[in-house]
Amino acid sequence: MKSAPEILVLQTAGRKIPLHIERGAGRRLRITVLSDGRVRVIVPRRIGLDQVMAFAREKAAWIERTVRKVESYTRLHSPEKSAETGLISILGQSFPLKIEAGRGRRAAFVDGVLVVPAADPADEEAVRRRVEAWLKRRAEQIFGMVLKQALSGPAAAHGISAPTWSVRWMKRRWGSCGRDGRVVFNIRLVQTPLPLVEYVVVHELCHLKHHHHGKTFYALLAKCLPDWKERRKALNAIDATPEIGI
Ligand SMILES: [Zn+2]
Repeated sequence: MKSAPEILVLQTAGRKIPLHIERGAGRRLRITVLSDGRVRVIVPRRIGLDQVMAFAREKAAWIERTVRKVESYTRLHSPEKSAETGLISILGQSFPLKIEAGRGRRAAFVDGVLVVPAADPADEEAVRRRVEAWLKRRAEQIFGMVLKQALSGPAAAHGISAPTWSVRWMKRRWGSCGRDGRVVFNIRLVQTPLPLVEYVVVHELCHLKHHHHGKTFYALLAKCLPDWKERRKALNAIDATPEIGI
C-alpha cells in the first residue's frame, strides 16, 4: 500500500515552492520539475527529510528558475481537467473551482472561486459541461469587449468595421475568418492572457481586409498591433495550442 505523499516547502529567494516527495529505489536523491510545474523529489529510503531539505536548498536557484520557465509556458487549466485539478484558467490566471451538490443553477464566480453546481459532484462529465457553458458565456463577453476596443482604435482608422462573429470550441484554430467575413473565435482562447486574445482578435479583423497571410496582411497587422510578433510567440508557447487559422 502506498503511504500518503509527503510535501516539504522550499523557501527560495522569490517564493515558496512545494516539493512532492516520493520514496523510491536507487541511491541518489533526484529532483525533477514536471511539465505541470510541480517539483518531484525521489528520495532513497535511507535518506531523511532534513537531508532532502539541505539538498533542495543547494539547488534552490535552479529549482526556482526551472519552475518559472515551465510556468511561463502558460498552463491552461482546461474544463477537461478542471474536475481533477480543481482549477480553471481565465485570461491567464488560475482560479479555484468548487463543485457543489445542486441542480438547475449555473456555474458562477463567487469571491474569486468558480462555484459549479452538479447533481452528482463526482460526475466529472457533468462538471465539465457546466464549466464549458460558463466559459462560453465569459468568452462571449470578453470577445465582445476586445472587439469593441479594437474597432475603436487603429483597426477603425484602417477602415475595418464590425464583423458578424461567434464563439466555438475548436481543436485546431484560435480563430478563423471566412470568405464571407464571418469571424469565429475559439472559446479556449479566453483562458490565455488578454494580450494574446487581443492579438487573435486583431489578426482576424485584418483578414477582413486581406484574406491571406501575404505582405499586405502583415503590414496592416503591424499598423494595428505593432508588437504582434511577441504576442504570437507567446501564444505559440502555450501548451496544446491550436494553430492560428486564416
Ligand atoms: Zn490568419
